[in-house]
Amino acid sequence: MASSNKPPVLLDIAEVSKSFGAVNVLRSVSLTVDKGEVVTIIGPSGSGKTTLLRCVNFLESYDSGSIRIDGKEVGFRPGPARDSGARQRRSERDLASMRAETGMVFQGFNLFPHLTAAGNIMLGLTKVRGKSSAEARSIAEHWLGRVGLGHKADSLPAELSGGQQQRVGIARAVAMEPKILLLDEITSALDPELVGEVLAVVRSLAEDGMTMVMVTHEMAFARDASSRIVFMADGGVSAVGPPKEVLAAETTNERLRAFLARFR
Ligand code: ADP
Repeated sequence: MASSNKPPVLLDIAEVSKSFGAVNVLRSVSLTVDKGEVVTIIGPSGSGKTTLLRCVNFLESYDSGSIRIDGKEVGFRPGPARDSGARQRRSERDLASMRAETGMVFQGFNLFPHLTAAGNIMLGLTKVRGKSSAEARSIAEHWLGRVGLGHKADSLPAELSGGQQQRVGIARAVAMEPKILLLDEITSALDPELVGEVLAVVRSLAEDGMTMVMVTHEMAFARDASSRIVFMADGGVSAVGPPKEVLAAETTNERLRAFLARFR
């Protein structure tokens, strides 16, 4: 049998739709992400980017379609099981371990303020992954070193800069060994001089083969670091392709052209 060198599909979003009341926030969104790909989602505010990531991370239900990671349905199933009762029936531990398939890093740093950098990373490892405290500490130290914060293991979030906190957030997400990392505007709340250090961490994880889907307004970074760019508009995928194609000035997609003009 002929073998193919194409990497396997890791994330398969198929015809996902979602409304908040009368507003169709996602309109039959389909997108596949191969293992090792870095896919960047761009688009105007309100186009559904965050909602899509939240559906993949099980933080939000969707109305129809399916989301699979490594072939396994991760989101709320459509139909009766989708009601809030179904959510309640899943134990918090189940939810946490399903979410751990996808690490998510948010715009706000979301670190627990009373825990040290290492403590923040250790929490999920002990509570969700069942690691001993000693094992969790050693994993936390490894990942803190990897994001350039080996010397900050015992610092509290308030003792760290925004860029450092976000690097801890990334370390916390990857320490759980997610199959895919979701990054939602992780540099938007940072002072401009701190953006570079966070993007450098993202880039090095990408180079190591981490599969990522990120929402960002950092167009130069998206152009350099992405395997593909998805342009969302009005809850749908309006364009998708390699950065050179999607970000081409001569695009015939009027919405995309208008969006890109803001960054020129
Ligand atoms: P983006 O990330 O592209 O800015 P969002 O996914 O945050 O877009 O939002 C898409 C649309 O969904 C917006 O119109 C927003 O107001 C709406 N929306 C998002 N979350 C909720 C919610 N919890 N309840 C009602 N409407 C929401």
